[in-house]
Amino acid sequence: MAVPSPRNIPPAVRQLAAEIAEAQPMRRGSVSERMVKCSKPGCPCADDPKARHGPYFSFTQAVGGKTRSRFLTVEQAAVVQQQIEAGRKFRGRVDALWEACEEWADRQLETDAASAAEARKGGSPPVSKRKSLGKSRSS
Ligand SMILES: [Zn+2]
Repeated sequence: MAVPSPRNIPPAVRQLAAEIAEAQPMRRGSVSERMVKCSKPGCPCADDPKARHGPYFSFTQAVGGKTRSRFLTVEQAAVVQQQIEAGRKFRGRVDALWEACEEWADRQLETDAASAAEARKGGSPPVSKRKSLGKSRSS
């Protein structure tokens, strides 16, 4: 890291954010492979499952509640599989980043609570907090 960060970013957050920054072509959805029957008269595919045509690949993705599909060549299907896998890893990192940031957020609360306690020692206590301090009154 050549440029020092102005804030104290936890290493886990920094690491995950760096990985996420290196995004690549990726997709959410799935690839399906189908063997199909044609409608030509006399074609054996009508009776024999092994004589069906294909495989035909398609990519399916749910977009705003609707399912969108497109056909893929064999070569495209291989690429799209990799893009979906890349997307799966990306999502895992995003989830991990969220968790790391939430732990960070918890630590911030603890730090703020500590500094608030410091401040209370010097000044007047906040009135609204009195009811929650029931235990200290049982003498
Ligand atoms: Zn056929």
